[in-house]
Amino acid sequence: MLRQDRCSLLPLSEAVERLARRDLPPRSVAVTFDEGMYDFYVKAYPLLAAYEVPATVYVPTYYTARRRPIFDLGCSYLLWRGRGQLVETGRLLASPRRLRIPTDTTARDALHLEMRAQVNAAGYSSSQKDEMLAGLSAQIGVEWSEFLAERMLQLMSPAELASVDRGLVDVQLHTHRHRTPRRRALFVKELRDNINALEAMGFARDELRHFCYPSGDADPQFYPWLREMGIKSATTCEPNYATRARSHFDLPRLVDTMRVTNTEFRAWTSGVAAFMPRRRYAAPIGEVEQPPALVGDIDDALTTDFARPWGAVATDRAVAVPLRRQTRSGVLSAPDATMIRLDRRSAITRPAEPPGTLS
Ligand SMILES: [Zn+2]
Repeated sequence: MLRQDRCSLLPLSEAVERLARRDLPPRSVAVTFDEGMYDFYVKAYPLLAAYEVPATVYVPTYYTARRRPIFDLGCSYLLWRGRGQLVETGRLLASPRRLRIPTDTTARDALHLEMRAQVNAAGYSSSQKDEMLAGLSAQIGVEWSEFLAERMLQLMSPAELASVDRGLVDVQLHTHRHRTPRRRALFVKELRDNINALEAMGFARDELRHFCYPSGDADPQFYPWLREMGIKSATTCEPNYATRARSHFDLPRLVDTMRVTNTEFRAWTSGVAAFMPRRRYAAPIGEVEQPPALVGDIDDALTTDFARPWGAVATDRAVAVPLRRQTRSGVLSAPDATMIRLDRRSAITRPAEPPGTLS
């Protein structure tokens, strides 16, 4: 569709430079992916190669070496698979109890959030969290070993990541552990660990200059720290057009999912989205009625098999967009986006900083 519509598909670094120089061609688009999931490798990457679409992939390197699903995604997926079933929650809740997993999406999302908050607050290790997922899967009749073997909700391995065509796919920074600590030393360490891990996989240190906020958690507090690390751009999940008026550490991005229709997508790439109904992006707490349809999105992604890449739309315009876009982000290819609104809604859902992993 991007090719059909004669979009100018630019590597992110070039798009950022040309945006600053007022030199963007018409319909400029930079395509990005977060995490570097295994499904990117087997589904999206071959398509990018076939259509010669340059893309940037932001990788939280801690997870590349782990052949396990990311906890939040795995938990959400298992609750969806086990909807309607009775389970013992065990340590997934502060007060372990026997309950029926809601079939209603909103109630199930609330249960997932409660579990996520509890697990983060308790500071369980990765292997403890794996055990909890395995326990939940056993109760709902999902064969855990098969789930792992299929590599659902897992990242590319270091070898897979290192094997991608670097002329096509630009691997960039997303913190090592997918976290945004508010203490400078910890934040900088996350970036350094991320850079060191990618360098160990063969990526040139000097070229690791673009960053994406984990969970879309962008905060101007980070700007000076990014600057001192020599970072050239930082990408958010705010659906908007990139302009020179904004900081290059505040690059907006259209999060594309299965639910974005072709017409809507074309509205973005053609600039028509500038005329769509407008609403403030940063709604006060309480204005957003519904939490993101986290599990429902997985449902969609599974039934359709391929989640369209999500990308940054970088044209030289500024618009506001409907807030609803922020709350219906995909999961399989864009796990971050589901967490943005939650993180801003209340402190309790903000992922805890890693106990014991940083010093
Ligand atoms: Zn992410």
